[in-house]
Amino acid sequence: MLKIGHTVTVPNSLKGSATDSDSDVIPIPEELETVPGHPEDPETVNYYTRNYPLESENLINYAWISWSIKNGDMNEAFHDHLRRDRPIVVAARASGDVEPTAEPVPGKDLTLEIKQKALELGFAMVGISAYDNRYTFKHKRSWVKPHPNAICLAVEQPYEETQMIPSETSEVAVLATYRRGGAQALKLAEYINTLGYHAQVHNFTDAAAAIIPMFVAAGMGQQGAMGYLLSPHFGSRHRLTLVTTDAPVTHDQPVDYGINAFCEICQVCVNRCPGRALMRDKVWWRGVEKHKIVAKRCRPVMSRYTQCAICMKVCPVQRYGLKTVMDHYSNTGQVLGKGTHDLEGYELKGLGYFGPGELPRFDTDFFTVPTGTAEGSLLDELKDKIQSGMVPEGPEGDAIFREFRQNIEAAVKGGGDAMESEWYSLESGE
Ligand code: SF4
Ligand code: SF4
Repeated sequence: MLKIGHTVTVPNSLKGSATDSDSDVIPIPEELETVPGHPEDPETVNYYTRNYPLESENLINYAWISWSIKNGDMNEAFHDHLRRDRPIVVAARASGDVEPTAEPVPGKDLTLEIKQKALELGFAMVGISAYDNRYTFKHKRSWVKPHPNAICLAVEQPYEETQMIPSETSEVAVLATYRRGGAQALKLAEYINTLGYHAQVHNFTDAAAAIIPMFVAAGMGQQGAMGYLLSPHFGSRHRLTLVTTDAPVTHDQPVDYGINAFCEICQVCVNRCPGRALMRDKVWWRGVEKHKIVAKRCRPVMSRYTQCAICMKVCPVQRYGLKTVMDHYSNTGQVLGKGTHDLEGYELKGLGYFGPGELPRFDTDFFTVPTGTAEGSLLDELKDKIQSGMVPEGPEGDAIFREFRQNIEAAVKGGGDAMESEWYSLESGE
């Protein structure tokens, strides 16, 4: 039995239930203690925000997202999702301009009311932190309202479907989770309006900021080696969004769940990643110490294998919950499920089953997918064609230039944003 350094009592607001009065008490062994939240150097975070502001993947990796939507194995399901999600995104975009529908009660702290309402609406977890503008994407800065508070909300992804990752069934469940959460967030904003305050809904598919740091600041978990938030009850089996508000609320505090150190020992996701995209060691990245995913090794797997997410499926905290995992580790010094087919096994469509210690092999071409901004990748494509003699003088070459022009126009109409472009083409029937 390891020496316990501290215990964490998990509040009901992080357990997916508005009524459950039992709180989990999680023992954190002394050897896993680091810091509440994540190790951070605020000066460095500020430096990067000022000089290299964050930007959305939808923009800087337009080429991959667009390619992935068109050529990935979830094309039809994803388009169906975009069509059904669009009204939710449109309403979320307008939510910040909606005026309150009642007079506020002066001086009343609304933390309990808002958290209770979020759970009643079906959110699995709710916490509150300051809205950290340092993580706002550059192209969304003019959209984001200057509200001081972030209501951090998690929707639970269905358990059974998550264990079937990677599969169409699990991915369809993920997309439905986004829509469910998006609709719930709109209802929460309406509720805040009835309390006399403003609220702005950040949509899952139309993200305006990197939001995990705010969830960590709200004590809702710590970031795991695969980059997701690991929360005490659901691990990574949730999808996250924010509602920001000017309502008076009390901020939660970051917690040390032992995850920063546990991931160094566990490493199951790192070992099982078919793209070998996860790193064993942490790095300091933009002022935060974390594991950094090698995106160019992850994206090709995601595109071709139903959005992959094997790193989520094989995580013991996702599978068994943090309390069970920490109880087991405290008693045995072992990672629950590590090395078992039950936790680590997965199937890749067309390649078969891979048990513990087995990984697929991909050749170099597999990892070649378009990357970069819309205009950059279109220009690169045209350059390649010219250099390889595929743009002759005359009608054939003119047709290639016309196609280039059409593609650039479509990208510009979509604001250089892959999602925006998809919505635009859905609207115009292209
Ligand atoms: S999604 Fe798949 S390829 Fe990407 S990091 Fe996770 S396991 Fe690796
Ligand atoms: S699989 Fe292990 S190393 Fe990876 S995130 Fe989960 S707990 Fe951390």
